[in-house]
Amino acid sequence: MTIGIMGAMPEEIEPILKKIGNYEEIKYANNTYYKANYNNINLIIAYSKIGKVFSTLTASNMINKFSCEMILFSGVAGGINPDLKIGDLIIATSLAQHDLDITAFGHPHGYVPEGKVFIETSEKLNNIAKEIAKSENITLKEGIIATGDQFVSSSERKKFILDTFKADALEMEGASVALVCDDLDVPCFVLRSISDTANEEASFDFDEFLKSSAKKSSNFLMKIVDKIIING
Ligand code: SAH
Repeated sequence: MTIGIMGAMPEEIEPILKKIGNYEEIKYANNTYYKANYNNINLIIAYSKIGKVFSTLTASNMINKFSCEMILFSGVAGGINPDLKIGDLIIATSLAQHDLDITAFGHPHGYVPEGKVFIETSEKLNNIAKEIAKSENITLKEGIIATGDQFVSSSERKKFILDTFKADALEMEGASVALVCDDLDVPCFVLRSISDTANEEASFDFDEFLKSSAKKSSNFLMKIVDKIIING
């Protein structure tokens, strides 16, 4: 079995590389892919760089070049749902591109012909996450995550994303990874820990909480990897 583990930024995969310890570095498409043998399965780990285009490239490479049979994303996000506090964990049941806009032609936000507004993640992987959270008494929210090529630090934009997509959190890579997985028929899992609440304070909160939130997300992600291995 080969599992792909993605983040967007170095901080989001560093705790995972540290836990694994031994890995091979493979340079490909102007990026580094870390290959490891972990409890008798293969892991391919990479940070894509920020945004939908880089994350699309990395997810595609993980599947088509490195033969990953599922992709698990770990990282940080801006919280929209007021229940989500900094450091809280959320898994995406579905994701949408909040900045995809051909509404001038009468289409809904996030929609282009032959695409879909909401892309679903793997129910099976989400259930594994929920089981672990329940058994270890970890608070885990599930909901809609909105993705766009912008760091949102505006209450107005945040309200638009809430009103339009009923999103619980927002970030810059999840929907593109989910889209690649959906089209290539590979299970997808998107986990985020809140680093900020996408308001006017967001850039300050982000800088302060990136590392601690990224670590919370990656710690939980590795519990899921362990469970996937046990389940076979
Ligand atoms: N400080 C970084 C830029 C971070 S961009 C630099 O200067 O290089 C924000 C990253 O964290 C993205 O990968 C995105 O997925 C996530 N994220 C966290 N909070 C966000 C927010 N409020 N808006 C958009 N993305 C957010």
